[in-house]
Amino acid sequence: MTITDFRTYAHQLVDWIADYLQNIEQYPVKPDIQPGDILRQLPAEAPVAGENFQQIFTDFQQIILPGMTHWQHPGFMAYFPANSSPPSVLAEMLTATMAAQCMIWQTSPAAAELEERVMQWLARLCNLPAEWHGVIQDTASTATLCAILTARENYNKAQLCVINQKGFSGQPAFRVYCSSETHSSIEKAVRIAGIGSENLIKIPTDAKFAMQPQALATAIAQDRASGYVPLCVVATIGTTSSTAIDPVEEIGHICQKNHIWLHIDAAYAGTALLLPEYRHMAKGLEFADSYVFNPHKWMLTNFDCTAYYVKDKAALLRTFEIMPEYLKTPLDKMVNNYRDWGVPLGRRFRALKLWFVLRSYGAEGIQAILRQHMALAKQFEQWLLADGRFEIMAPVNLNLVCFSLKPAPEDTNESVNQKNSDLMAAINQTGRYFLTHTKLNGRYTIRVVFGQVNVEEKHVAGLWELILSLLPQ
Ligand SMILES: *Cc1c(COP(=O)(O)O)cnc(C)c1O
Repeated sequence: MTITDFRTYAHQLVDWIADYLQNIEQYPVKPDIQPGDILRQLPAEAPVAGENFQQIFTDFQQIILPGMTHWQHPGFMAYFPANSSPPSVLAEMLTATMAAQCMIWQTSPAAAELEERVMQWLARLCNLPAEWHGVIQDTASTATLCAILTARENYNKAQLCVINQKGFSGQPAFRVYCSSETHSSIEKAVRIAGIGSENLIKIPTDAKFAMQPQALATAIAQDRASGYVPLCVVATIGTTSSTAIDPVEEIGHICQKNHIWLHIDAAYAGTALLLPEYRHMAKGLEFADSYVFNPHKWMLTNFDCTAYYVKDKAALLRTFEIMPEYLKTPLDKMVNNYRDWGVPLGRRFRALKLWFVLRSYGAEGIQAILRQHMALAKQFEQWLLADGRFEIMAPVNLNLVCFSLKPAPEDTNESVNQKNSDLMAAINQTGRYFLTHTKLNGRYTIRVVFGQVNVEEKHVAGLWELILSLLPQ
């Protein structure tokens, strides 16, 4: 493609992108297609001769677009949002254009220094402890893996990084703790770190689906008595099922007393710390050794962009630093070489979009959007409660409402679950909204997240009217 052609197509594409964003509600949130429908339309062999861009773009519109789930649609209320925003898209264009590798300072000095600065901005905006150091990771799953590996390499103060050097032989059996509501990425990290799923102890939760600290203390004491080494506790601020909030301060005291690494998974809810009125949910954060949250979920920054913070930068670097001769530079002692702060060597320039987003909206702009989301959730909860036919299945801590139709006298658990699953399927069938479910206390629970950047009261009202129209009159 010549630069002249590129210029023409890029202009066309920007117009298409703006139209897409403007008219997104004309698309069904989720496509109504069957497995294989897209694959069947794609030729089995890659083209031998180059094709022209107009043909490629036509195929994008005709084959790909009808098979996409539209995450930026205001009716997208499933899972957790993966928000984007116009400034984030613009930054992503520049990142793709420069296509720089941001592994060490020398490979892109501005990328390294901007990353350092925006991570400081973010920490201050969220009131995170001042001594923490931040780095951008691809996902929360990777950040949690980094936390567990760092805990593993630093638990033995007399012999640091011993498993990195010698492998597992002669090592104690480690234990990691989390609540029964914790995200699956914790178990994945425990497996990858060589600790084993059986050594991930799931601590029971209370009526609000938060970890019971007393049960944690008991489990740790029992494990110690049986010869295990308690390594790490993962507490969650905002669980995936119901945005439950583990009591970080009480858990922090237990970790401190027992010299156990405390990792906080706030992948989704961490964004809410931009609001001073929600900081109570992070009480005790200063006990944490590591902390992760995803601007790529709720903070208007398109995937991928995970903010990972650690208290002890040296412990992180010890765990991941590896120095091949060809990457050594005389500046290594003066700069941040982010390849030493995590798993990958090559890194995208992700700080740029965070910078664009933070500057375009300002703290106040993001806060206003978050407050709107919280208010919409409260509004929806009130409508559900006032109707009388629904139960709120978990506290509405943030912008997620977990609800379920109440059982009628003749209902069994199975039949009421079926009714709720039918209701959700009927909502999704319209293509106007996309909701997903969880199970809470054995009940099929419909989750509604009000977190899409452009969601407004009219969308919530539309959902409520739709639900009412689907119920027997
Ligand atoms: C989404 C989520 C994760 C996983 O995030 P990725 O960035 O996709 O790895 C982990 N924990 C919680 C609580 C989450 O909400």
